[in-house]
Amino acid sequence: MDYDAMFNTQLETLKDEGNYRVFAELERRCGDFPRAKSHDAEAPDEVTVWCSNDYLGMGQNPVVRQAMKDAIDQCGTGAGGTRNISGTNHHHKLLEAELADLHRKEDALLFTSGYVSNWAALSTLGSRLPDAVILSDSLNHASMIEGIRHSRAQKVIWKHNDPEDLDRKLAALPANAPKIVAFESVYSMDGDICPMAEIVEVADKHGAMTYLDEVHAVGLYGPRGGGIAEREGLMDRITLIEGTLGKAYGCMGGYIAGSAALCDFIRSFASGFIFTTALPPAVAAAACASIKHLKQSNLERLQQRDRVAKLRAMLNARGIPHLDNPSHIIPVMIKDPVKCRMLADILMQDYGIYVQPINYPTVPKGTERLRFTPSPLHSDADLEHLIEALTVLWKQCALARAVA
Ligand code: PMP
Repeated sequence: MDYDAMFNTQLETLKDEGNYRVFAELERRCGDFPRAKSHDAEAPDEVTVWCSNDYLGMGQNPVVRQAMKDAIDQCGTGAGGTRNISGTNHHHKLLEAELADLHRKEDALLFTSGYVSNWAALSTLGSRLPDAVILSDSLNHASMIEGIRHSRAQKVIWKHNDPEDLDRKLAALPANAPKIVAFESVYSMDGDICPMAEIVEVADKHGAMTYLDEVHAVGLYGPRGGGIAEREGLMDRITLIEGTLGKAYGCMGGYIAGSAALCDFIRSFASGFIFTTALPPAVAAAACASIKHLKQSNLERLQQRDRVAKLRAMLNARGIPHLDNPSHIIPVMIKDPVKCRMLADILMQDYGIYVQPINYPTVPKGTERLRFTPSPLHSDADLEHLIEALTVLWKQCALARAVA
């Protein structure tokens, strides 16, 4: 058997479709966010990153960095074990308490990533609650989809952000079956925000628990960075809030927050929590510092909002089509995988602007896009440079279309 030939056949198909992934090799410049050194031979030495999920630049914040350094000096590098076997460090417990407080829940539980937290929590809930049905928004993240699939529970998909469809689907289920409504607050690729109050209302009406992924919202929304649920005064109406420490908080790790019983249940049964090495204590200490900072500082959120509004206004003024959404995510729609890749390459090579093309399967075919995430640290000059580059490329694309 020629296994490599089998692998290569599929890789060639990806390349033919324009969906083969090429990663930009970068060295982020600490203290100079959003600048990075590029190791791409075709690109300038220094590039400006426009697609980072370190949304607020907290990964380079001096307080966060110092917390990590101090914890390394105090505890060393790794956790030294799974949470169960010697790996529970005091920093993990401090962080869990901080997270519980952030979401005003009784408890919280850490995982090695947001992906693992969704996968582990949903697979445990779906498999351990007898006859559970999981109702999943049609645009839920892969980590939720995988968790639900692994649980083998009955899955019902409801129309994206449509509480009426959810209502109909819940009404069709047996009244006494445990039901879990799984959805996100900010959807990462379209940047739209769920109608949370209505969803919670519908779930309550049918006695369903609510499972909310706030990965693209924690740190960014709400007066203390508690996410959209905090902003809308709904934290106490959500059964389980899931989040990441890898995006707005600039570190790594995932978590759930909920009742003490819920967290104890997941802690006790989730293989994705039990059988893996705990996060390095220094990562937990840094995340804790980042959360604490963003609980009391609105500055980064306000600056980010200003940058987002400015880029949107510039795109509008130049007639460059982008999804009109109420979040910090600005998808510029290209709708073709090859063009999307090509535009990203030109931006990188000719302008030192790094934006990763977003192609299938991350988004449906025909909706390929460049996804911009302005941060508080993108300057006016960065915005001008980006908009000039996009305007030139847009004119060239329009010209190419006209002669085609
Ligand atoms: N949920 C959503 C909606 C996501 O977009 C992502 C990652 N992009 C995750 C969960 C996983 O989070 P993490 O990156 O911390 O694994």
